Amino acid sequence: MARTILTGEAVSSGVSVGKAYLLAKGHYCLTSVQNIPEDHVEQEAERLQNAFNSALQSLERIKSSVPQEQQEHAAILDSHIMILRDPKLRRKTERYIRELLMSAEWALEKGVADVEKGFSRVDDEYFQARANEIRLLTHRVMNHLSGSASSIKPITSRVILVAHDLTPADTVELNVSKIMALATAQGGKTSHVSIMARSLEIPAVVGVENVDTTVRDSDFVIVDGFQGKVVVDPSDEELEHYTNLKYQFENYRREIMRHRELPGESRDGFRINVMANIELFEEVRAVLDYGGEGVGLYRTEYSYLYRHKLPSEEELTEEYSDLASILHPKEVVIRTLDAGGDKIGKGFENLEEANPALGLRAVRFCLKHRDIFKSQLRAILRATQHGNIAMMFPMISGLNELREAKEVLEEAKHELRLEGIGFDEDMPTGIMIELPSAVMVSDLLAREVDFFSIGTNDLIQYSLGIDRTNRHVAHLYQPLHPALIRSIKHVVDAGHREGIEVSMCGEMAVDPYCLPVLLGMQVDNLSLNPQSIPVIKKVMRQLSTEECFDLLKRILESDSVSQSNRLVKENVFNRFPEELLFYSSMLEKAT
Ligand code: PEP
Ligand code: MG
Repeated sequence: MARTILTGEAVSSGVSVGKAYLLAKGHYCLTSVQNIPEDHVEQEAERLQNAFNSALQSLERIKSSVPQEQQEHAAILDSHIMILRDPKLRRKTERYIRELLMSAEWALEKGVADVEKGFSRVDDEYFQARANEIRLLTHRVMNHLSGSASSIKPITSRVILVAHDLTPADTVELNVSKIMALATAQGGKTSHVSIMARSLEIPAVVGVENVDTTVRDSDFVIVDGFQGKVVVDPSDEELEHYTNLKYQFENYRREIMRHRELPGESRDGFRINVMANIELFEEVRAVLDYGGEGVGLYRTEYSYLYRHKLPSEEELTEEYSDLASILHPKEVVIRTLDAGGDKIGKGFENLEEANPALGLRAVRFCLKHRDIFKSQLRAILRATQHGNIAMMFPMISGLNELREAKEVLEEAKHELRLEGIGFDEDMPTGIMIELPSAVMVSDLLAREVDFFSIGTNDLIQYSLGIDRTNRHVAHLYQPLHPALIRSIKHVVDAGHREGIEVSMCGEMAVDPYCLPVLLGMQVDNLSLNPQSIPVIKKVMRQLSTEECFDLLKRILESDSVSQSNRLVKENVFNRFPEELLFYSSMLEKAT
């Protein structure tokens, strides 16, 4: 294919050069034989049962091969196995073969369409997700009917995986050790595929429009996980450039790992804890491997996603308690459920909101579904026996909402006391500052909480009016925008005036070029994806508070993002050629 450059969102750093492996989208074609003669009924019914059984066996085989560290995938497979075992769909489909004299394929298609129709009447996102799963599973059964046992051909050599999207089941079926990089048409920073790429430390670009229809199997491609590019059939110059970049990055990564166990502090000894953001319990290993000084944000919504039904209080207690005991004495900040908004599928209701980001999400969702909220709060409290858990509410807009959320927390505490269940009475309770309204009343909020954690992903979205999932406005994501810098400074000062700690757990904390500004403001803790901890520590340990104060002062006086960006680059980053090379896309975004 002719040289082409496709762009998307860089979600995992690095560069890979190699042959594309195109994962088929899982489409199947219905045979043209719609009706069968009466004397073929038994044969067709048997074909259907065999296809269901083979699909079931292949899923069970996949499940038994799931490595220990990917057990969250196994939970999804369990739910898929349960769906395939459910006799209702089989019975219904078989009835269509017998009564309507349909071929097995057409009968199955009709049976699934009926299920989808039934689910579409239920106004609930959970049921929509189930309907999607049934459709996906039908692909498997159809593949067995058509005689192609697996939609995934084995990966035998190291490849760059190109796909429309990757389901967790696909991930398990694929031999991930052979995947050098990923490029998908769907997905965002927090989708399953991105999380997986980061934890495997392979470069990944997602949201690449038409990547699966443009790239062909075995095409020679480059995945640039720094700039979010997929280069198909690269020129000799590009090849040389990326091969060098890859080599340099590998050396750099080895080198910065030396910083991982050192404390997060400036050259002159100002301490900022460098903690980890995690989404899955399994990432706890990465927190320790990369020198995380605790978990500053545990996004609990994923535990709801990966289960077939709502998790029970017992399950959550066990999960939080295991996390806290593994990391003890390091602190673990558990964020209460942040369902809705861009967390597609994480909601429990399909409200069909015109503006989900401005809709019933996070703490608003929890205050409406108090049973779900209370059960989580009880689980968090019950897991505090080691005394190293803190919790925070997301998306607090003002005092009334905070007080309401705290009331539910008090109810949970009261119930546990009555039941004689012990918990840490001193568990710190904080809030995320993610809304401009919370910034404006941060002085009032600071009096009623133990800490703030600034969530810049949402604060930028709501302050600058850019949908964080819309790639057309992604270039407007500008952490050094004067409005943002003033907001953050306002929150840090308001928190410190009331004597509480102020942390940052949004993606701004990962950008090395924002670090001198945050150090200048004296934020207390930073929380970021574990893999980026060593680089942040490395840069922090080479900065002095004095130069950061000075830089911040000048940035606060600057009138535009481009001026702030220039100041950061000229005053600080010209001293950091490697970071400038590997993180320049972040700097460019700010111009
Ligand atoms: C944020 O908004 O910055 C944040 C950390 O929360 P999330 O990305 O989970 O919405
Ligand atoms: Mg947020």
